[in-house]
Amino acid sequence: MTKVKCTICDDSGWKKIEKDGKEFLRRCKCQKIEVLKDRCLISNIPPRFAGSGLDDFYPEEDDNNLRKVVRDIKKFIDDYPAIQKGLLLHGGTGVGKTRLLCAIATGIIKKFPSADIYYIDWNDMVREMRSGESHTFRDFSLINELINKLSAAEILIMDELGSSMPSQWVRDNIYYLINHRYNKQKITLFATNYPDESPDGEIPTLKDRIGDRIRSRIFEMAKSHYINTLDYRQKWG
Ligand SMILES: [Zn+2]
Repeated sequence: MTKVKCTICDDSGWKKIEKDGKEFLRRCKCQKIEVLKDRCLISNIPPRFAGSGLDDFYPEEDDNNLRKVVRDIKKFIDDYPAIQKGLLLHGGTGVGKTRLLCAIATGIIKKFPSADIYYIDWNDMVREMRSGESHTFRDFSLINELINKLSAAEILIMDELGSSMPSQWVRDNIYYLINHRYNKQKITLFATNYPDESPDGEIPTLKDRIGDRIRSRIFEMAKSHYINTLDYRQKWG
């Protein structure tokens, strides 16, 4: 027997309420969560984070750095759409950057259910763009479709920025996309494993990974936040 997920309605989606001695059926609140999850999935949010908000994110009591980042993100959600700049989260693997990005999406979808948000992983984007590069007779239609979709989104979430090295041709496409969003003053949220500076030169920087042109544009359109950088250097490699 499968386990019942909602103990209020036994997964029927309806709960009984009594008023003036009469029984009524009302939509159960679990349905709202399901609708929220569905909307997140339409936005291409990874299923494990769909519908998961900032309330599900618990920084340690003494983790002042992460607590501040969470506060800033909460303010971002509260202030949206009166926002000038996007966000760029830097931090090592496992510090929760993807979860935070998805929490922003969930928070905004809760406020504005029809918000047009799209999540894309850098690797997937690069792979899709590269598919047009190798053709003898280049078929740009699929790439144009992808770029148009990513350009048009009200909020674009670009995760794992710089995680794979794009060819010059793919880089040109990404620059076109980022520059388009910059010119249209559209909000873009980024996360990356790469720092902007490497004091000892041992760690590759974001510029090393994505090139100066894309990096410069991103810094003009997004505010940087560093998450647990101490940890970050330890976790490197
Ligand atoms: Zn229910």
